[in-house]
Amino acid sequence: MKRAVFPGSFDPITLGHLDIINRALPLFDEIIIAIGINADKKYMFSLEDRKKHLKETFVNQPKIKVATYSGLTVDFCKKESAGFILRGLRNSNDFIYEQSIAQTNSSLAEIESVFLVCSPHVSNISSSIVRDVIRNGGDYRKMVPRSVLL
Ligand code: ADP
Repeated sequence: MKRAVFPGSFDPITLGHLDIINRALPLFDEIIIAIGINADKKYMFSLEDRKKHLKETFVNQPKIKVATYSGLTVDFCKKESAGFILRGLRNSNDFIYEQSIAQTNSSLAEIESVFLVCSPHVSNISSSIVRDVIRNGGDYRKMVPRSVLL
């Protein structure tokens, strides 16, 4: 079974994440969307809310599972028997950041990182921009899936 882990903070999930996940679906038998728990990081949305947003977004998609993990992403992949880490690329900054992580991960374990370049209409969207718009009372409805608005 071709199983991939899509790790991230999802604080909150955006249409950018959705674009990558939907386009990766035909490539894998199962995708585990894994919320990484980092005790040192401050989040806008609680872990419960972030999990709820993800579960509701993919309620009709049997190939998607939602999970949380702490520790190394590669250790979580091994535990779940996942051979692939899925990541999205918006621009060259993402690439530089992701390259060193992917190289480190492949030296830690036999896990391939798979990158999809985002669709042009979501390349400006990031969770941090969404949080900024929310903090300042802006309209973020066109940046996130419906589940974040409920
Ligand atoms: P992290 O805290 O690991 O950066 P994120 O939740 O911000 O977690 O992102 C998870 C993954 O989704 C990363 O691979 C990131 O590059 C990708 N991603 C985020 N926003 C977009 C977007 N607008 N288009 C494509 N990929 C995206």
